[in-house]
Amino acid sequence: MTATAPREEQLWSRCAGCASLLYRKRLRRNLDVCPECGEHARLGAPERLRQLVDPGSLRPLPDRLPQTDPIEFVDVLPYPYRLTGARASTGLSEAVVCATATIGGHPVALAVMDFRFLGGSLGCAVGELITRAAERALDDRTPLILITASGGARMQEGALSLMQMATVSQAIAALREAGLLTVSVLTDPTYGGVAASFATNTDLVLAESGARMGFAGPRVIRQITGRALPEGFQTADFLLRHGQVDMVVQRRSLRGRLAALLAATRAGRPARPPVPRQEPTPRRERLTDDPATLAHTDAAAASVPGAGDTPAVRDAWDTVRMARHPGRPTTLDYLDSVFDGFVELHGDRLGADCPAIVGGVARLAGRHVMVIGHQKGHTTAELVARNFGMASPAGHRKALRLMRLAARLGLPVVTLVDTPGADPGVSAEEQGQAAAIAENILTLTVLPTPVLAVITGEGGSGGALALAVADRVLMLENAVYSVISPEGCAAILWPDRSAAPQAARALRLTAPDLCRLGVVDEVVSEPPTAAHDDPAETAHRLRAALLANLLPLLEVPPAMLVRLRRQRFRRFGATRAGVKAVQR
Ligand SMILES: [Zn+2]
Repeated sequence: MTATAPREEQLWSRCAGCASLLYRKRLRRNLDVCPECGEHARLGAPERLRQLVDPGSLRPLPDRLPQTDPIEFVDVLPYPYRLTGARASTGLSEAVVCATATIGGHPVALAVMDFRFLGGSLGCAVGELITRAAERALDDRTPLILITASGGARMQEGALSLMQMATVSQAIAALREAGLLTVSVLTDPTYGGVAASFATNTDLVLAESGARMGFAGPRVIRQITGRALPEGFQTADFLLRHGQVDMVVQRRSLRGRLAALLAATRAGRPARPPVPRQEPTPRRERLTDDPATLAHTDAAAASVPGAGDTPAVRDAWDTVRMARHPGRPTTLDYLDSVFDGFVELHGDRLGADCPAIVGGVARLAGRHVMVIGHQKGHTTAELVARNFGMASPAGHRKALRLMRLAARLGLPVVTLVDTPGADPGVSAEEQGQAAAIAENILTLTVLPTPVLAVITGEGGSGGALALAVADRVLMLENAVYSVISPEGCAAILWPDRSAAPQAARALRLTAPDLCRLGVVDEVVSEPPTAAHDDPAETAHRLRAALLANLLPLLEVPPAMLVRLRRQRFRRFGATRAGVKAVQR
């Protein structure tokens, strides 16, 4: 179509805001902002960089990574086909361009996302490139600037794309620790996993005029709530009004504002000697000296199905239905059956107590632990009262408070994950759902106490990850853990939602799949009849698995725990060798 398009179409473009026909050269001179109505058109990453950095200062960072198709994803098209198409149409190798440069004379590292490339989606390569840009900032002792434009995590890379939210967040945490400024600039649109991680857990969050940002997209929210959305919902001005961004900036002022902020953070700070380079990531052989890892291998061998008993392979869609079974034990059931002496702690201290998250102190075989989990219910009334286990921002902030408290008290944290996803409602967005999830993810990457996560039922995207960045991640045999629900994935990539069973298979969301991908460390087998038919036996098995995994972690010094946890999530980058999908 473009090959035969008349020349006029390249010379003129129509404003998405006011529908004026604009001369392209004039539009570009105006930074792609409509001179008639002020609409900010979307920018590709190369053009954004050209506008933002000092002329002649741009030094692109290497962007060549081996092409990955880690879960061999196929919808109506194989994923490599879509990748090749995106490369051809954008001239980019991935959905982010990273560089070093100066802005107003201040050196920075930058990662600029490009929405034209598969919706700016966050996959393993994008996560790896942004992490490297952050590591470069740490090495150079410069601030990091992230320009976001993304629909969220990349479905075609399954749960591995979800892991990138943690990988990039921990790189940001390292910059925080080093006292180096991180800034994100939200551009239109910024949603999902990107919004719920590095777009909002930076020191400063700027929104470009007209940008929209949120955890859940407006279409999803309308579908779920069945209500019309408030005027200007999720726009930059809305975000400013709800305290979620530091400022709204017109494109023509962006460079100046960034320069001023960079100048302020450099002023008055004594020059610090460069931090010695972090030792390179040890290879796996070296890691096996560690007691936690040793325990992991033994325990894993003991309880991965297939080691002793060989259960029949269940279809992924059947597993999804099993994971959602209303009879499945809930967090409160496990608190009763697996733990002793649970004392529930309530509230986020900011004005709310979310019923979808329960937490408090308890004992596991006589040892004190902090338990935090999603709470669903068995009856419709219970489910409604608990918002179906979908946590509000207050729920995530309660969890955050309890995690930090656990670290101060020296208690290990055990999380029980069972949620279709974080609450996608209007008020959740108003209260900063994306930032609440992002802060939990970042905090868990550096929490100086053992963290053990168990996916007990549904592990739904960012809402699950907000409790699942852990030293060890266990998963019940009939649980699922996914970047998006099969129904949601089917609605986007297939002609309609009825393809959910196919999507479930393509997403690799079952426990054995995720164990092979390294997202999950150990599968906890369920009784032959499944958890809901024999809760007592399930509790017995879960308790044994928790103890086998927790005890070795208690021996690891906090600093090493954090280092190993970081390595665990750092290895999900695109360069990880041997990420291979299970056979279909
Ligand atoms: Zn216009």
